[in-house]
Amino acid sequence: MRYQSTRGNSPQQSFLEILLGGLAPDGGLYLPVEYPKVTSEQLDSWRGLSYADLAFEVLRLYCNDIPEDDLRVLLRKTYTGKVYCNGRPEDNANDITPLHWLGEEGGTRIGLLSLSNGPTLAFKDMAMQLLGNLFEYALKHAGQKLNILGATSGDTGSAAEYAMRGKEGVKVFMLSPRGKMSAFQSAQMYSLQDPNIFNLAVAGVFDDCQDIVKAVSNDHAFKEKHRIGTVNSINWGRVVAQVVYYFQGYLLATKSSAEKVSFTVPSGNFGNICAGHIARMMGLPIEHLVAATNENDVLDEFFRTGIYRARKSAETLHTSSPSMDISKASNFERFVFDLMGQDGQATARMFKLVDEAGGFDISKEVIFKEIGKYGFQSGRSTHQNRLDTIRDVDHRYGVMIDTHTADGVKVARDHLQSGIPMIVLETALPIKFEETIKLALGRPAECPPAFKDIKSKPLRVENINADVNEVKAFITSHLN
Ligand SMILES: *Cc1c(COP(=O)(O)O)cnc(C)c1O
Repeated sequence: MRYQSTRGNSPQQSFLEILLGGLAPDGGLYLPVEYPKVTSEQLDSWRGLSYADLAFEVLRLYCNDIPEDDLRVLLRKTYTGKVYCNGRPEDNANDITPLHWLGEEGGTRIGLLSLSNGPTLAFKDMAMQLLGNLFEYALKHAGQKLNILGATSGDTGSAAEYAMRGKEGVKVFMLSPRGKMSAFQSAQMYSLQDPNIFNLAVAGVFDDCQDIVKAVSNDHAFKEKHRIGTVNSINWGRVVAQVVYYFQGYLLATKSSAEKVSFTVPSGNFGNICAGHIARMMGLPIEHLVAATNENDVLDEFFRTGIYRARKSAETLHTSSPSMDISKASNFERFVFDLMGQDGQATARMFKLVDEAGGFDISKEVIFKEIGKYGFQSGRSTHQNRLDTIRDVDHRYGVMIDTHTADGVKVARDHLQSGIPMIVLETALPIKFEETIKLALGRPAECPPAFKDIKSKPLRVENINADVNEVKAFITSHLN
């Protein structure tokens, strides 16, 4: 499989060639030159496979420069019950992503696909754990080392650290805003004792951390000399790993490939739902893909109106579903490329408009009128919706959900269609956002046994000023 840039002006590359990089040289994102098609016979033959073996069937279509035996070993090492063991007491950890039916609402079954049973209790583990093993594999084969630099306000950073801890050839330097994350999130990150993980607590806000990462990335000489890489949400390896659980969710919800299902996806950077789009393009019988946003509703606005309007930092709201607080959706360009008939020049023009004018408007164009064929729908949820939904799902079904999943359930309920099961992706466990759970339910969030004493563990974190040179100096004195 070869990969092309969404801006149409970079050479095609193989999976392993794009795995460790970020953007294509022309500023675009990588996508396969075509989506492999899965027939209904193939799909039915995958019923009953373990998660790891299903992942093998899907990923072998995309990473055929990794020998199949190696790929299978990597996947079986990644998706084990030992790693995805933090689910609800009734879960079987070997299911990796169990499906919980909540019940029937207006004649439609509605369920949660649990993607948050991994080490950091959020869906980002699903892809990041694989990325950790793929990076180690790719670096060993190339005889290279990598220093990952990232900025986080919570979920991404901890998922990256837990994926890369102890991996050969990889070091992680993760910037986080000191004192600005939830108690649980800081404890989770800062308690890691692995010598290849460096937590840098920056005196500043998340934007300061991100600006430092950008400044270092723009220093090409420094970046090359010290082999600096990233694991942000535009990484193709992350997107493609997420395609697998749409197949798994579909197979768990149906008995034959004649049936359809819809998915609702709590969305921020469009990475998760982009994987759903790819699964659908491969032929998975998905009726609708519903993007659920919080008050930062860039995506909902686009799907309703055809107008894409990136927000300024100052316009981006801090909400109680913070992992969806985005100003622009970094993976959205992948969908736009497909929408434009895979025309790289046209896509480049539109994202030049995003950079220069803050957005684009295709409301009057034929392509927007035909957008229905991609199955997307959307909706938004507010703080009050979130609290109400957490309360309602707890009272009605006895299931505690986190704030992001609550946005998903709220929006899913507005898009139920008779006879088509609706699967909401559960993107985090409630304990990660315990302050809001307490507010909604008046009692503490459930805590998986392994996390009971997380806040009393010893910490390993370096305080640092919001200063590019200080960060560079730290990196060069702790390099791989
Ligand atoms: C990252 C994240 C999201 C948003 O996912 P995208 O891929 O950015 O759309 C939603 N919920 C949680 C809990 C997350 O960590």
